Amino acid sequence: MKAAPSTFHVKSFGCQMNAYDGDRMAELLEAEGMAQADADAADLVVLNTCHIREKAAEKVYSDIGRLMKRRGGAAAPMIAVAGCVAQAEGAEIPRRAPQVDIVVGPQAYHNLPALVRQAARGERALDTDMPLLSKFGALPARRRQGPSAFLTVQEGCDKFCTYCVVPYTRGAEISRPFAAIVEEAKALVDAGAKEITLLGQNVNAWAEEEKGLDHLIRALDALPGLRRIRYTTSHPNDMTEGLIRAHAEVEALMPYLHLPVQSGSDRVLKAMNRSHDAASYLRIIEQVRAARPDIAVSGDFIVGFPGETDEDFEATLRIVEAVNYAQAFSFKYSARPGTPAAGMEDQVPAPVMDERLQRLQALLGRQQLAFNQASVGRRTSILLERPGRKPGQKIGKTPRLQSVHLETDAAIGELIEVELLSAGPNSLAGAALVRQAA
Ligand code: SAM
Ligand code: SF4
Repeated sequence: MKAAPSTFHVKSFGCQMNAYDGDRMAELLEAEGMAQADADAADLVVLNTCHIREKAAEKVYSDIGRLMKRRGGAAAPMIAVAGCVAQAEGAEIPRRAPQVDIVVGPQAYHNLPALVRQAARGERALDTDMPLLSKFGALPARRRQGPSAFLTVQEGCDKFCTYCVVPYTRGAEISRPFAAIVEEAKALVDAGAKEITLLGQNVNAWAEEEKGLDHLIRALDALPGLRRIRYTTSHPNDMTEGLIRAHAEVEALMPYLHLPVQSGSDRVLKAMNRSHDAASYLRIIEQVRAARPDIAVSGDFIVGFPGETDEDFEATLRIVEAVNYAQAFSFKYSARPGTPAAGMEDQVPAPVMDERLQRLQALLGRQQLAFNQASVGRRTSILLERPGRKPGQKIGKTPRLQSVHLETDAAIGELIEVELLSAGPNSLAGAALVRQAA
């Protein structure tokens, strides 16, 4: 039996939605009177896990091993496994790692304080229920905030891409109510947020009574003090005319779109159950660029989906050339238990996947560098988010989500005007111009 914890540490893996959930769990534990501590000192460690690829899922077990070795095992903390691995593996986790005290799924973490009490009584605590929406209503109001905040507006997925675990770990697609989102956005702005990124597995599927994400974005645009709005991740099928128009009309909506295509081959897209093809994806990009010519386009790619031939992969390289991405994420296909693709024939050998990923990443890297280099000489605003490594240095983001390093005495959280001076593949250097009134 472990004593009731008075300190905690939340470690989040994976996507931005997990980062948001991690913040909310921390707020919840603070509301219970616990204080944050480093992972190597905390009485309770919450591992907020990701199940999207095998490597991500396995990380949790190596972390548990590391925690148990803490100070020779004498000071092992109470361990909670949260997130999508908890949902997918449930009771299997304590069977494989008996040191785990709590297992809590992504739709049940509002029950974390009760589960901690249960574990402190020496009982094994497990909750992987998926009640629709009750989590949000049971969480305390937002308090902890930096200049840039996440806000989950949509959860789950009904699209069932054949490679993906999300519909199983996060459940059915649901939209949070408009009024609750606006209330949370106001609380975030009151706590100091100047930028809000609306989150969802398919964020542009958000809807309430025939009104889509563009309606929500326009309502948030009216909040005094909120200067920047972003949203991620979008699905091509839910890219409505209204949302595209919002990119032309709403000044606070940042010129950045993350729109995963996954593959450039129609044959592979069909086998993935993506419900768009290469041509329809390119048409959307064209419409978005017509509405907002300076928009930065980003995407996700999977190489080595079962049955992917050299020709299919060449089609992926072609769509990358056609779009010319500002930034992108690319992954080797990882077979996930229980998904249809895991049972498909023609799994692609690892060395072939490695070679394809290298070629794709080299091309995407060249595009990203060229995009950054083309920004040199421009004047733009940046939102200062954190200190840099060197004394006096700070790091901020441009509207197009590029990181800029610069020396300035302006405070974190300020929006300032800069001139971009030089560019690398992942960031730019800038010089501050006149300070804008916040
Ligand atoms: N809903 C978004 C969409 O439809 O594009 C993506 C959400 S998913 C959490 C993030 C990315 O992980 C996907 O876009 C895909 O590229 C990647 N991914 C998902 N399942 C994968 C798998 N089994 N193997 C490799 N990458 C995967
Ligand atoms: Fe996964 Fe596809 Fe749903 Fe995206 S749309 S979360 S890739 S199933």
